[in-house]
Amino acid sequence: MIPTTEWMSSAATRPCATNPERWFSKSAKDRNAAVRECRSCPVLQACREYALATRPAHGVWGGLTARALRPGAAPAQPKRSSKVPVDCASPTSYEQHRRRGESCESCLAKRAAQVEQGRRARLAREHAEHGGSMSGYHAHVALGEQPCLLCRAANARRLAERRAAQRARNAA
Ligand code: SF4
Ligand SMILES: [Zn+2]
Ligand SMILES: [Zn+2]
Repeated sequence: MIPTTEWMSSAATRPCATNPERWFSKSAKDRNAAVRECRSCPVLQACREYALATRPAHGVWGGLTARALRPGAAPAQPKRSSKVPVDCASPTSYEQHRRRGESCESCLAKRAAQVEQGRRARLAREHAEHGGSMSGYHAHVALGEQPCLLCRAANARRLAERRAAQRARNAA
């Protein structure tokens, strides 16, 4: 029995009613966009039941492509990224977790250690090149330590310069 097709009349709320070309586009990119839009369609369920019963050979129906609707097609696979575990030893694992909204303690710790290492390297550079600087001052603070005398002096000097420049601009 062919399921009811009343859902087809809800043109006002069906995303495919406003831009049907995308649902029948030759471009896979367009069709994938259509699949995504189907997910917010209020008649998704009825449309999908209809499509699974009638197996249209073209277009996107109920969030499924014609290929997925072929008789015997494998059920839609979840996105690969949600299946394969992140390789926590890789340099990009922290970013991968972040994109997936996962929180991984070992990658977070690794990341924190990297950030700290970067700050220490910056501080060593500032000390070697300038003997102390505003940026060194901030690196000390970010590392949770008392800024050294030289960085404190450099920071105070830069702040005073900025204030003087601001006063000069205000006076002009
Ligand atoms: S589920 Fe997709 S194809 Fe079906 S009516 Fe909604 S938007 Fe159109
Ligand atoms: Zn991890
Ligand atoms: Zn310092």
